[in-house]
Amino acid sequence: MIELLATETPVIMYSFLFFIGLFFGSFLNVLADRLSKRKTILGRSMCDSCKHVLSWNDLIPIVSYLMLHGKCRYCKAPFSIQYPLAEIFTGVIFVLTWYLSTERLIISADLFGIHIIHIAIVAVLIVMFLSDIRYQIIPDEMQIALLMLGILKVVSLSLFLKGTSLIGLSQDLGMHILYGVGVMSPLLLVFLITKGRGMGFGDVKLAFVMGLILGLLSGFLALYISFVVGGMVGGVLLLTKKGKRKTKIAFGPFLILGLYLMMFIEEDIILFVSRIYGF
Ligand SMILES: [Zn+2]
Repeated sequence: MIELLATETPVIMYSFLFFIGLFFGSFLNVLADRLSKRKTILGRSMCDSCKHVLSWNDLIPIVSYLMLHGKCRYCKAPFSIQYPLAEIFTGVIFVLTWYLSTERLIISADLFGIHIIHIAIVAVLIVMFLSDIRYQIIPDEMQIALLMLGILKVVSLSLFLKGTSLIGLSQDLGMHILYGVGVMSPLLLVFLITKGRGMGFGDVKLAFVMGLILGLLSGFLALYISFVVGGMVGGVLLLTKKGKRKTKIAFGPFLILGLYLMMFIEEDIILFVSRIYGF
């Protein structure tokens, strides 16, 4: 019976997380749209075309989209495929994050709260990702939320690893703020030199929190991943002529990718990078 539980529990847990993720995805979609357009996050959802208020059965993740064949029930205007895809994406990322956080990260294995903080961080990152891809904006509300969660993670780990010494805690926090400044500096420099044309200030703020969460070396490695992957995607877009030279590609999604990879599979990334450069 115990063996059965041990094998069955993760399946139930992960299915539950995926299901929760679908509904969260629907909510994060709304947050990304409304925060970017500076609308209130309260109030009922409506169709963008006919402004008809959507009822609960128009808003069930995936199911409504399939039942309505991707069209508004009232005016038949098509809904973007982005929305159900973002819902599925959120479900998948929730499951993946929980797995990596609980099974792969050694440091937090005994600290249940850290896994919850990780899921919350990932939820915020998804809103940032969707906002930056759709509107080339990273909402300040999400920057503040990410900063708070980052501080919460640093404080939790510090208390967990070093006990409740106030001096130790303030030292740790101080160090991580310095890491943030360090990782932010290169992007701030690009921002200042190009007068904001090469880099948005939202990216600079995000890089600060990346440094705060990851530390100096991992933070720089995350930046490195962002520039390499961003450069490759930019190059492909240029070659296929989908993006002209003037087309702005949001950099935020690449920063988010770098942050995610360094948060959850840091060791694999370091091994991979060291193999490429042969050290
Ligand atoms: Zn409509």
